[in-house]
Amino acid sequence: MSKPDIRALTIQELTAILAEWNVPAFRAKQIQNWLDNGVTDFDRMNNLPAALRTQLAEHFRIPSVKILRRLVSSIDDTTKYLFELEDGQTVESVLMKYKHGWSQCLSTQVGCRMGCSFCATGIDGLARNLTASEMMAQIEAAQADRSIRVSSIVLMGMGEPLDNYDEVLRFFKMLETPDGVHIGMRHVSLSTCGLVDRIYDLMEENLQITLSISLHAPNNELRRKLMPVARKWTVEELLAACKAYTDRTGRRISYEYAMIDGVNDTDACAHELVRRLRGTLCHINLIPANAVEGKAQRRSSQARLRAFTEILTEGGLNATVRRTLGSDINASCGQLRRHQQDGTKQHFSE
Ligand code: SAH
Ligand code: SF4
Repeated sequence: MSKPDIRALTIQELTAILAEWNVPAFRAKQIQNWLDNGVTDFDRMNNLPAALRTQLAEHFRIPSVKILRRLVSSIDDTTKYLFELEDGQTVESVLMKYKHGWSQCLSTQVGCRMGCSFCATGIDGLARNLTASEMMAQIEAAQADRSIRVSSIVLMGMGEPLDNYDEVLRFFKMLETPDGVHIGMRHVSLSTCGLVDRIYDLMEENLQITLSISLHAPNNELRRKLMPVARKWTVEELLAACKAYTDRTGRRISYEYAMIDGVNDTDACAHELVRRLRGTLCHINLIPANAVEGKAQRRSSQARLRAFTEILTEGGLNATVRRTLGSDINASCGQLRRHQQDGTKQHFSE
């Protein structure tokens, strides 16, 4: 049987175990610091006594992710990783540089079972959930690789975070640990396709995270065509959950809307969105849809994006078109993994 993951322990749990071994509490902080710096071998924790290093290695393992591929954008330093997990599964993550620092987009699952029609991640379904420790390991690997500190996190990589609720919440706790990566909830965004029951659960946690809702359509008919989850919950139910969420937490909701040419980008869609969202505390992020191999979709034209934004803005909504980072390395998630799996020739430059 494989040894337990040391990172699955909170600092309090680790301190308690060390106390049983008659090891003082400050050692837990030292260990946490090494883990935080991406060290995945107890033997390299050279400020710990040799006996303690041996004892730790006997009892625990440190899950790590291996960088299988790394693509760096020549335009804006955006870095895309394909990470290999301990069992050989792979996930993607993207590091983006903003004025305020580095932001990392993390995966929460290997694949996804939500099956949205426009998305590359969902094509093969869900392989498995990631553990909180594996989410953390993605940050540590990127930090160590680029010698940087990540200052904000978006859960917008592969997977549906609210379909892996418990581990995601555990990951949030790990993020906040002062001796760990130490990223506050105000610097965390979570994007969901709209699992309504989980949005209510999340509301009860009263976290200061930004909640992003992948809306992509203003009505049930169109949304059901794009997103199977819309057959389970209607747009009305989803927006009611969002209203409850903002009422309770005071946090503005961010709606994601992928602009797909000729599908959801008409003036009529924009007007309908205005009717739906006017008067609510929200921001709309229009994302020019990314092409996905094997799918016919194309992104809306610049002119369409402008016209759509204008209708929203004139209707009193706060809407912006998302800046595309790393366009030369195809920074949207799901595609790199698929290429690696099926051995298709890569179009990316390394
Ligand atoms: N499962 C979550 C988070 C991961 S997907 C969710 O769906 O929200 C992150 C974002 O990328 C979502 O808004 C998703 O709808 C969007 N997305 C997926 N495929 C896309 C594509 N081909 N072009 C543009 N956005 C896409
Ligand atoms: Fe899953 Fe999000 Fe892709 Fe939909 S868009 S299939 S929820 S990862």
